[in-house]
Amino acid sequence: MIQTVEGPLPRSQIHNTLAHEHMVFGKPGFALDSDNPYQRDTAFRHGVERLEMVKPFQVDLVVDPTTIEWGRDPLLLRRLSRATGVALVCCTGYFKDEGDMLAHLKARSYCEDLEATLAQEFEKELVQGIGNTGVRAGFLKVASSWGEIRPLEKTIFSAAVRAARRCDVGILTHCERGTMAAQQAELFLSLGMDPRRVILGHMTSNRDLAEIRAVADQGFRVGFDQFGILSIPGIPDDEEKYRHLLTLVEQGYGDRIVLSQDTICDRMGYVSKSKPRYPDQIYREGVPEETLHRMTRDTLLEVLDDRTDAPSP
Ligand SMILES: [Zn+2]
Repeated sequence: MIQTVEGPLPRSQIHNTLAHEHMVFGKPGFALDSDNPYQRDTAFRHGVERLEMVKPFQVDLVVDPTTIEWGRDPLLLRRLSRATGVALVCCTGYFKDEGDMLAHLKARSYCEDLEATLAQEFEKELVQGIGNTGVRAGFLKVASSWGEIRPLEKTIFSAAVRAARRCDVGILTHCERGTMAAQQAELFLSLGMDPRRVILGHMTSNRDLAEIRAVADQGFRVGFDQFGILSIPGIPDDEEKYRHLLTLVEQGYGDRIVLSQDTICDRMGYVSKSKPRYPDQIYREGVPEETLHRMTRDTLLEVLDDRTDAPSP
């Protein structure tokens, strides 16, 4: 089953997916901004507009990897899912150690075994639900910084792997501007995580195709998940991203790739400048039908599936 914000959904009911889209994403300070406060109704309208845009591509499941501290809103996701009929999957986990975003976790690390308590908290959100919303998280999200995995990020990775193994769920990662894929892979393997349940995110930003092939050969899945994004300095443009994608498909790696755009529908009080577009160019490139299905559906669902509907042996 795929654990969506409305409950478990069998894979057979899902036609097409997007692996990484944010319904909301708030930078620090949004909660104190009285001129442009976060309004759930506005975010709802933005989310509906976005989800309606991808329906012509038969997208009926979208994964939202907005982490706890960046404005994750499970109730908004549930409302959007009910209004549009598009299943949404919410995460538990934390983003990279940037600025003071994770300062509260650092303070806690002086008082408790942070890895153990985070693992318990992740597990609670995966099994019982987030706060008192009744919405269960369907996967874990972890992140590393540009060119390094910081100590606190390593603790979050370790806690996430503990929870993922106990709850049989997948993990989606953020590789800052495409860096640290090999190091994330090494860390996951050292922690005993099954690479087939991990998507290393933002490989669209990684020009080192040999590194992408190496982690895929280890069994990891890779996210080509930032089509349409122009705001991140130094990353390839869409044309180069497609060239890399098609090269990897030609080399036989299509079954390891998941597609998405990393759109932000609502920046908590501000209108996002993201110009979402389904990565439809791929349909015109002569990619075999079966490979297309893997990239737009099957690979993601295998990572997310908690196998609770598998026939008993
Ligand atoms: Zn993202």
